[in-house]
Amino acid sequence: MLFTEFGFDNRILASIGHMGFEEATEIQSRAIPEAMAGRDLLASSKTGSGKTLAYLLPALHRVYKTRALSKRDTRVLVLVPTRELAKQVYSQLRLLLATSHYTSTLIQGGENFNDQHKQLQKNPHFIVATPGRLVDHLKQRNVFLDGLELLILDEADRMLDLGFAEAVRAINTAASHRLRQTLFFSATLDNTDVSEIANELLKDPSRVAIGQGYDEHKDIDQHVYLCDHLDHKQDILKHLLLGQTIKQAIVFTATKNDTARLAEMIEEWGLSTQALNGNLSQAARNKVMDSFAKGQFDVLVSTDIASRGLDIASVSHVFNFDLPKQAEEFVHRTGRTGRAGFKGDAYSLVGPKDWLNFKAIEVFLQRKFESDVIEGMEPKFKGLAPAKEAHKLKKAPAADKSRKTVKKTSRKGASKDRFHDNKQDGFDAFKLPAKRFITPVDHGDEE
Ligand code: ADP
Ligand code: MG
Repeated sequence: MLFTEFGFDNRILASIGHMGFEEATEIQSRAIPEAMAGRDLLASSKTGSGKTLAYLLPALHRVYKTRALSKRDTRVLVLVPTRELAKQVYSQLRLLLATSHYTSTLIQGGENFNDQHKQLQKNPHFIVATPGRLVDHLKQRNVFLDGLELLILDEADRMLDLGFAEAVRAINTAASHRLRQTLFFSATLDNTDVSEIANELLKDPSRVAIGQGYDEHKDIDQHVYLCDHLDHKQDILKHLLLGQTIKQAIVFTATKNDTARLAEMIEEWGLSTQALNGNLSQAARNKVMDSFAKGQFDVLVSTDIASRGLDIASVSHVFNFDLPKQAEEFVHRTGRTGRAGFKGDAYSLVGPKDWLNFKAIEVFLQRKFESDVIEGMEPKFKGLAPAKEAHKLKKAPAADKSRKTVKKTSRKGASKDRFHDNKQDGFDAFKLPAKRFITPVDHGDEE
């Protein structure tokens, strides 16, 4: 479908023209008309398929074309799970709003609370926020959502994983106008936590699913290497990083400490490298992401704070130095490459400690991976015996439908200091709920 066929306001068409886009992606073609018709929506499509515009464009259209429900209140709120994604969505929104007089602000942890308060006093029409910090402002009565027309959750499932369910509920309650419309987006939406909160927040939603998170992403080549131990993993990573042409790469690790350690090591191998994790100050996080997005260094070593949503076209390779504990995260991590029609390569290094996660990912994706071997670096490890595997998987439920039966855990570790809280967004403050851990191995220092 062409963008000119949706019946968009001219200012929107002008913005899309500036971006150089003519044809809508599949998710856009399906989701935009539903959203423009005022329907609530549960929408999923693969990583890099243009979900951001699929919700921002109808949001803009509604604001441009209809009268506000209240004179002062914010009209559109976009919630996202991490600060890095909040910044990215906000910059896209700013670009779109440049052709209009409508205003917007970004509300996220790690930034000055009072500055945000001042921004909120200007009654922005649009807010992009991470949930924890926004709830702090709600409690302080710095922001009112009574007239909110559109509530959007991007990476909706991740938000719930991070223990933001209560924050999302508080926002839902504060934004209770009967004409409010609600949109959920993600590449992976079919989990029971999502349906529970979707039932609470969405009214008779349309469902638009273009493929599933577990469908094979044709633009991403997956490669798997079995590894015996840490040194072996490092040797294989070095071989892979140095043995091919890499525009930019992201290496994902399980722990914050590993990001720094590995980044130093990769730097020594001759590639310019920086680490990103939730222990860094917000200023440092911004600096790392900005310079990576500008192509100023080659390799970003990160925890899962970079796994969702980040759209950097020159990421040609993704490496899972450790496999994620939640199978969906595999889809999101590897989806940092192969975006908007480009090709990408994803490498997963599977050691004995990763084996059960690896098997759970195969179950989730309904796909078997063949492993590759590098001459001279052949692994002795060939996987755990099926009996042992079955026993362990039975003890610890895999990341599939079996979650249904596991009790919800509540959010832990929320900071009491709401003015200097740099913990309430992203992965920083929360241990992932135990129910999603599918391995007894403790990686420590989990974000
Ligand atoms: P997702 O949220 O589905 O992972 P994004 O919204 O981040 O994907 O979009 C991925 C990339 O595709 C972005 O760089 C975006 O600018 C680009 N894009 C979005 N819509 C279109 C389109 N209709 N045509 C071409 N590129 C697009
Ligand atoms: Mg996205």
